[in-house]
Amino acid sequence: MIEFVDTHTHLFVQEFNDDRISAVRRAVESGVTKLCLPSIDESSHAPIMDMCNKFPGVCYGMIGLHPTEVNDDYNEVLDRMYLKLAKENPFIAVGEIGIDLYWDDTRKKEQIDAFCRQLDWAVEFDMPVAIHSRNAFEPLYDIMENYRSKALTGVFHCFSGTEAEAHKLLSFEGFYLGIGGVVTYKKSKLPDILRTVPLERLLLETDSPYLAPVPYRGKRNESSYIPSIAEYLSNLYGCSIEHVAGVTTGNAYNLFKKMR
Ligand SMILES: [Zn+2]
Repeated sequence: MIEFVDTHTHLFVQEFNDDRISAVRRAVESGVTKLCLPSIDESSHAPIMDMCNKFPGVCYGMIGLHPTEVNDDYNEVLDRMYLKLAKENPFIAVGEIGIDLYWDDTRKKEQIDAFCRQLDWAVEFDMPVAIHSRNAFEPLYDIMENYRSKALTGVFHCFSGTEAEAHKLLSFEGFYLGIGGVVTYKKSKLPDILRTVPLERLLLETDSPYLAPVPYRGKRNESSYIPSIAEYLSNLYGCSIEHVAGVTTGNAYNLFKKMR
């Protein structure tokens, strides 16, 4: 049977309050047998853990503070998150973390500080990271350089940069590009970039509830749509959808070791 991993899905958010359980079932029935749930802020913790408890072996949680949620109290928030990691650590990764200067760059300094603190957790606890970056390639890359020697691994989720940026990011050996619905959009430049990137460096993700792939574009996105992204990639790479599933699922297990 074909097996996919949705390496980045927010099925725990309120958009799924009416049908969360059936959204997980639809995913599993579509062959998407593992779901990685990245935190957005502290309030993500309870609903993520609830899903992990309800669907053991299917749902896996991450812990982290999203860059757009870095507010005045971020240091205290991070202190509390750190305690959770130090105490029980049921998490497969630190995420999602990063830098986002698209809407607002007034907290650039704080975003960078929060990002570095959380990268340090990943090193300390030997965990992979899920990185979100928007309008922030230069500062992100500069920070990543400081961690190059530290055996950090992870995924640049929802990659949306240039070909040169893709290759600079992939110079970090333990890292993958997270590819979602955007690759299926007509005006996307991503297909041309991916022609220069092997499948062995890609992970599949939906980023539900946002950015649904064609033919669901504009609708609420959900994890059961992963096969549409895989089918698009199978055409792009000239291989079978089974091959896309096999390679990208292998990549996901390789990165998120606690999921094995
Ligand atoms: Zn996300």
